[in-house]
Amino acid sequence: MSSESPTKKDIYNKYHLKKVINASGRMTILGVSTPRSEVIDTVSCGLNEYFEIKDLVDKTGQYIAQLLNVENAVVVSCASAGIVQAVAGLITKDDRDLLFNLHSSDKYVPREIIVPKGHNINFGAPIGTMVSLGGGIMVEAGYANECKPEHIESLINPDTVAILYVKSHHCVQKSMLSVAQTAAIARKYDIPLIVDAAAEEDLQTYYQQGADLAIYSGAKAIEGPTSGLVIGRHQAVEWLKLQSQGIGRPMKIGKEGILGLTKAIELYVTDPQSETGQQMVAKMTPFIESLNTLKGISAKVVWDGAGRDIARAEIAFDASVIGKTAVEIIELMKQGEIAVYFREYKANEGKVDADVRSVTSTQLDIIYQKIKNITQGAQ
Ligand SMILES: *Cc1c(COP(=O)(O)O)cnc(C)c1O
Repeated sequence: MSSESPTKKDIYNKYHLKKVINASGRMTILGVSTPRSEVIDTVSCGLNEYFEIKDLVDKTGQYIAQLLNVENAVVVSCASAGIVQAVAGLITKDDRDLLFNLHSSDKYVPREIIVPKGHNINFGAPIGTMVSLGGGIMVEAGYANECKPEHIESLINPDTVAILYVKSHHCVQKSMLSVAQTAAIARKYDIPLIVDAAAEEDLQTYYQQGADLAIYSGAKAIEGPTSGLVIGRHQAVEWLKLQSQGIGRPMKIGKEGILGLTKAIELYVTDPQSETGQQMVAKMTPFIESLNTLKGISAKVVWDGAGRDIARAEIAFDASVIGKTAVEIIELMKQGEIAVYFREYKANEGKVDADVRSVTSTQLDIIYQKIKNITQGAQ
């Protein structure tokens, strides 16, 4: 043994890292999630062994496909890498020239990827950048606040490669066609449907509704290591896997991530331990009651806008009483010894959401004290 394994305290001290309470949800900028110990054990076991990597990729993919009752599956390095390689795979198919020269080949092939305009999101990086990286040309269908089947159908032409549907809280939700409606169009015109379901909880429904490729982030709902999952139809997944010899190489995942995510999926399906929305409500109720005793603050339970079983505490700040806007309070909560991060999407309405999935009751008390200090100081 050259050295003992580091403790949590050592890591924060050694690199002078800021302590964080993550009340924002599964956020990439904070480290997303913390896997269960069985997953961590599988990761370290995998690190200590050698495999034929193609064998590992194929066999874990088959194992996951069986668990989820889908034709085919593959572990990738993250959901973004899944999107890039899905696009690249559907463009190149098994053409080696295109596989090796995706961006430099002047061979003519269809490259258009149709995306509802309200799905053209920035999830921390623009989804359009992933489409371009995969060799695709993004074509927006419909309007910022509306996309109907005919908006997509009117854009289908011989240059169309696929339709990309983004199922996410980031997207415009109103007046958007459903996954099933999009799948019906894809079938009618015999073009593949890619569904980016990176943060979604149901690993089967989009495939069952007709997605040829459905893409998940490994560390979000599944709580695996940094990784991504692509499930789908046999041929589409095999074309995607070929990309490891092309554009996929700089986004490769290691053996430990492949094994870790496979274990995390197994646990997610066979032994789910994630908190239910009702358990979240129970945990946050004392926190909400305390906040409601503070001047200029009102808090209540709100349910996830994208329909997932997630309850959050919505905290509204009355700037005229407190003398600070929600935007200022958000910044102040990140200062000091422990940085507290909320969901900030509603800051312009004077509100934040606290997502308690990664927050303990003790940490909720710390958050309450910090809010009190910041907002009640001048009174
Ligand atoms: C998080 C997210 C991504 C990116 O996932 P990574 O695994 O971090 O690459 C893509 N699309 C949506 C909708 C997301 O929420």
